[in-house]
Amino acid sequence: MNKNPWLYQTGQNWKMGLFNFLIFISLCLFGILVWRINYREALTSIIPSQGTLSLAFVSIGALAITWLWFSIRCPKCKISIGSYLMTKSDALSFFNDLSKLHRCPNCGFDGLKEKGDEKGTDSDGSAQNHTSAP
Ligand SMILES: [Zn+2]
Repeated sequence: MNKNPWLYQTGQNWKMGLFNFLIFISLCLFGILVWRINYREALTSIIPSQGTLSLAFVSIGALAITWLWFSIRCPKCKISIGSYLMTKSDALSFFNDLSKLHRCPNCGFDGLKEKGDEKGTDSDGSAQNHTSAP
């Protein structure tokens, strides 16, 4: 998967990473659940019951969605990006929209540092090497 530029700029890429991790755990539990159903008599003392596995995989998946919903926020206008995108677009295009996010959909904040940051003056920086000799 590609790195989200806006999430990266606003320092929230780890939240997406944690979401992916939780989804991964959930899918692993789902895989164990399927395996558990297919091999009922195997290792019943080690592998949790089907009910436990189902509950765990559903709740961790729901936890991941909830986490993504509430954790990713615009640092400027403080809106929840997850709920904003969910209400503006349908669930299928949600992750597509989130992955293509380049600025806050509400206030347009692009995550870049505002003026005062030494960046972007590369067009006329050829002979400006601190010529402040008195
Ligand atoms: Zn915003």
